[in-house]
Amino acid sequence: MLQGILHYAHYLLEGSIDKNETVIDATCGNGNDTLFLSNVVGKNGHVLAFDIQDDAIIATKQKLEENNRTNVSVIQDSHANLQAYIPTNEFLIGGAVFNLGYLPKSDKSIVTKGQSTINAINTILQYLKTSGLIVLVVYHGHEGGEEEKQIVLKHVMKLNQRKYHVLRYGFINQRNNPPFIIAIQKR
Ligand code: SAM
Repeated sequence: MLQGILHYAHYLLEGSIDKNETVIDATCGNGNDTLFLSNVVGKNGHVLAFDIQDDAIIATKQKLEENNRTNVSVIQDSHANLQAYIPTNEFLIGGAVFNLGYLPKSDKSIVTKGQSTINAINTILQYLKTSGLIVLVVYHGHEGGEEEKQIVLKHVMKLNQRKYHVLRYGFINQRNNPPFIIAIQKR
């Protein structure tokens, strides 16, 4: 069966992340992916969850509290500054997820941007475990979305194929700028 975009994103992450690992939610928003990752790594794993806006940080913390999660650090900062949260050179990231775009039902002018997304991807790739995945769900129908989509695509299409597998997955007969997935696997 073909899987919907969000199901497929979770399927990829679940299949590549192991218990007890440290993983990244680069755009935590309402905390749905954060909670999912928290389950996948288990209570001895760790999730670093980033977002820049107050609403997202509040919503994510609330979701984690409601679900009694203690294995997540919610960080109000841009994922472009991720390097500052890497404790040692030997640090290993088990996997990462990005949901590009704006927070639903919130300020539509606060959106992810191509250059900061690329900065974060590059930092994560340095510390990603072998066979680990970065999964990006690319929403691009909003203002600025097409520009970010092009910047990110151009960047990932140039990643060295000897080091990374890069996949694009999406439905090509849907209306209204359907989201798609970019998955980058470290070889
Ligand atoms: N995954 C989220 C969920 O489950 O609800 C939805 C994420 S939403 C599509 C995109 C989020 O990215 C917004 O909450 C926005 O504030 C955040 N964002 C925008 N630029 C960012 C940046 N530079 N660093 C981290 N988060 C950012």
